[in-house]
Amino acid sequence: MDWFKRKLKGGVDPNASKSSLATNLVEERARSNIILNSIESGVVVIDDHNSIQLLNPAAARLLGWTTEEAIGLDYRNVIHIVDDKNKEYPEQMNPFKIVFDKRQSHRDNTAVLAPKTGPQIPINISVSPVLDTNQHLNGVVGVFSDVTEQRREERQRAEFISTASHEMRTPVAAIEGYLALAMNDKVSKIDAKARDYLEKAHSSTQHLGQLFQDLLTSAKAEDGRLSNHPSVIEFGSYLQQLSEDLKFGAEKKGLLVEYITNVGDSGHPNAAGTKVVTPLYYVYADPERIREVITNLFDNAVKYTDTGKITIGLTGNEHIVQFYIRDTGPGIPPNDIPHLFQKFYRVDTSATRTIGGTGLGLFICRKIIELFSGRIWVESEVGKGSTFYINLPRLSTQKAADLQKAAASQPSGVMPTPSVTI
Ligand code: ADP
Repeated sequence: MDWFKRKLKGGVDPNASKSSLATNLVEERARSNIILNSIESGVVVIDDHNSIQLLNPAAARLLGWTTEEAIGLDYRNVIHIVDDKNKEYPEQMNPFKIVFDKRQSHRDNTAVLAPKTGPQIPINISVSPVLDTNQHLNGVVGVFSDVTEQRREERQRAEFISTASHEMRTPVAAIEGYLALAMNDKVSKIDAKARDYLEKAHSSTQHLGQLFQDLLTSAKAEDGRLSNHPSVIEFGSYLQQLSEDLKFGAEKKGLLVEYITNVGDSGHPNAAGTKVVTPLYYVYADPERIREVITNLFDNAVKYTDTGKITIGLTGNEHIVQFYIRDTGPGIPPNDIPHLFQKFYRVDTSATRTIGGTGLGLFICRKIIELFSGRIWVESEVGKGSTFYINLPRLSTQKAADLQKAAASQPSGVMPTPSVTI
């Protein structure tokens, strides 16, 4: 606390004002004040007792408080951050709390500020820890800016993409249908050369249709319009069934497919000879959306793997359900891994360059998994293969039964919003 008072309020001894050090400090403070008072971004400094020590005029304006009112108050009473659905962030998602806990910088580009009065303001916020020379946390500094205009433009862009791709899907589907008819022996007579051309046109049309579909899904994912009908999923049987459905595509390419699930719940060790218990891994998510994710990862594994095996695995612990898709394909270079889940990102290697794709699949997967508070990531070694992992919050058997009972008692069979933390 003293550290901030000295540093920010400029605790300079007036008796030493003649010394050059003091003059430098005063000048430096004046310069800092000019910058802090004139920049458009809000700046807030909070000490290690959660108390606001500095609030520049832009921050005061955005928050709807005066600097005098806010100084010394607990930041949680002054800075209210909500999500795009107007729900206050839970404590563990609050950017300041995250930095206090993790002592690492944190950025949030989807936050919305709920000021003391007036309408909400979309903001980008970045919070950094202030550490002393002994690496003790003295407090945090938050910088945030009003991005109302930027978000409005993003929304318009997403709306344009989604309307355009929706409209373009219809004629593309018609072309695809007519090409299929032209290649059908029962309705058309064509020679081998024409068939060859039509097959190429058909496959390009399918690619175009997939691109429009992916564009539509990613635009919806970005502005939170992805339809979502969650229900309780017992992941063991769900994944096994899905693996059965998916494996034909891989086997056609000569790839082996295996499904692995761990046996024995953690906390219930299986001594040799005792009955093996397969744990029930319940999650609360939309089965259709999760199917989209697994199908996408599996199709990628098949697409990029020439020989070997694809493994679909399931494991977990008390809190999470983890599933993964592993392949023996070309692997992904380490430099590409941080960008892989971004829109339109494709690895540029001679192997993948020749394989068609939109670069939207993994972006959509990430958006869907985040919708259910999960996490997706990849571990990969070039020349050996890749494993895509997904963690979803695990639902206890009791909570799963409660939610299923509640859904059964609703006339529409719609799952209620769980009042449990999952
Ligand atoms: P695409 O339509 O290009 O497959 P994705 O978003 O699904 O788009 O994947 C992005 C990129 O990640 C791909 O272009 C490819 O370079 C790389 N990639 C994805 N899955 C694998 C995999 N199993 N093995 C190797 N590279 C992969």
